Amino acid sequence: MNEKLSRLRFRAAQQYELRCFVCHRPYGPRFQFHHVEYPADWKTYRDFKTNTKYNEYIIPRIMERPDVFLLLCKPCHELVSTVQRVRGQGKFERLLDACRRSRLGGAGSARRAAGKRKSGRKGA
Ligand SMILES: [Zn+2]
Repeated sequence: MNEKLSRLRFRAAQQYELRCFVCHRPYGPRFQFHHVEYPADWKTYRDFKTNTKYNEYIIPRIMERPDVFLLLCKPCHELVSTVQRVRGQGKFERLLDACRRSRLGGAGSARRAAGKRKSGRKGA
């Protein structure tokens, strides 16, 4: 990407506090502006032959309509894109439920936490 586009991208990213919406990692290379919606009359990435041409088109729109995008780091963008593909009656909610239970609750996680305390390294 050329220097002018990099500067414009940086200015666009300033609208999002220069950090990933999900993990709050500071803005850097390979961050992406993720569409939360596609306004009907907007072109898409596929309408452009080069990444540069697409960026010249989309960056002014990010400046005008920051509500249409989220700033995401590459790993979080991949995660969001993967989870977006989860469709079907109640499936998304059950996926979130499964993630919450795996992280936060259940006897298994309490045992794991106790185990870590006993065998964990001193200090840290
Ligand atoms: Zn992130």
